[in-house]
Amino acid sequence: MSSYHPLSEAEAIEIARSIREVFPTGEELVSREIGDGNLNLVFHIAQPATGRSLIVKQALPYAKVVGESWPLSLDRARIESEALIKQGELAPGLAPRVYKADHELALTVMEDLSDHVIMRRGLIEGGHYPKFAGHISEFLARTLFFTSDLGMNQQDKKRLVQSYINPDLCKITEDLIFDHPYYDAETNNIEDSIRDAAEAIWRDEALLFEVAHLREKFLTRAQALLHGDLHTGSIFVTPESTKVIDPEFAYFGPMGFDVGAVIGNLLLNFAGQEHWSADDVSRRDRRSELLATIRDVWTLFEGKFRRLWDEHGVDRVARAAGYQDDYMLRLLRDTIGFAGAKTVRRVYGLAHVADLDTIPDAAARERAQRLALAIGTGLIRRNRQAESIEDVILIAEGAL
Ligand code: ADP
Ligand code: MG
Ligand code: MG
Ligand code: MG
Repeated sequence: MSSYHPLSEAEAIEIARSIREVFPTGEELVSREIGDGNLNLVFHIAQPATGRSLIVKQALPYAKVVGESWPLSLDRARIESEALIKQGELAPGLAPRVYKADHELALTVMEDLSDHVIMRRGLIEGGHYPKFAGHISEFLARTLFFTSDLGMNQQDKKRLVQSYINPDLCKITEDLIFDHPYYDAETNNIEDSIRDAAEAIWRDEALLFEVAHLREKFLTRAQALLHGDLHTGSIFVTPESTKVIDPEFAYFGPMGFDVGAVIGNLLLNFAGQEHWSADDVSRRDRRSELLATIRDVWTLFEGKFRRLWDEHGVDRVARAAGYQDDYMLRLLRDTIGFAGAKTVRRVYGLAHVADLDTIPDAAARERAQRLALAIGTGLIRRNRQAESIEDVILIAEGAL
């Protein structure tokens, strides 16, 4: 084992060559670095003679943030590879295969999913993913239930919590989702055209009160092993298949944070349809399709989670009459609140999303950003009073 250093392409190729199940024969390998280079290196390594390929992802010891560099523990690469393996075991077929992990070099060698597209891009380009809600609800229900005190031995769970202590990446979330968007922080990236909307949020004490509650849950609630960064840029799709990648933010937190991430990112695309749909008719259709997907994600998730609980629940006290209904309602409310927080930060926080940012026309972009803010703040305001997923649909439609 060699000590940590960022890999050259030649070194990435040597590591790939050792994966005999992918490259049993010795033909030439070629490497391409395809990551965005902010936090991690991602090498795509292919063997042109056989058409075989794999991915080597290596963590860098810093993040580039607004000109300076933010140190980040390499232990997140261990967390990422362990979470990928665990998610693949709990939700078979919904995570990439892991061929090898090297904690010293902070790398994971995994299945190449280049025949899929990143869902954010797929949605922007108008793709349809009819199986997505079924797949992601399965991923969420199984990974969250079986790592919670409902679905695993409670002492084993505490030991598992210890191996997913992830302070550096939790800090990114705590700062960029739950803190900086709620005051005039230097890291915010606010277009002048919507500065007034950001300022209105900073003055909205009732909204800040709700954000404080959501933040408290993220900080203190070790409910289940989260993916922790489950936006549409961490999901590879085809019409037939869904694969969840990039769990480097994994830690034990509130389940609604993962479910809400999926819903919030579908809503960001809903807002972006201001531009991405060609005309009013297709815009209306596309938006109803996105809202139907949101409804399905929650409804299928809830059904599957309850079935797992009924069939595999380890906890006798959790069978108390009415407790499951109460638990699921609180989980829905958390989901709605976190979906809102995930939406707001993507409009004017540090890291934006292509669904909004790559809209070329300034007027359409401003309408989409304001719409996303109206939906996000609506969800945050409503979260602790919500009664069903229909609240989300009403808030999204009402913001139009
Ligand atoms: P980061 O943590 O730096 O965001 P990701 O794991 O999201 O890294 O990967 C960044 C990009 O690299 C992805 O958007 C995708 O284009 C590519 N990539 C990552 N994993 C794979 C994979 N298993 N197969 C194909 N491409 C991948
Ligand atoms: Mg990235
Ligand atoms: Mg990523
Ligand atoms: Mg990542």
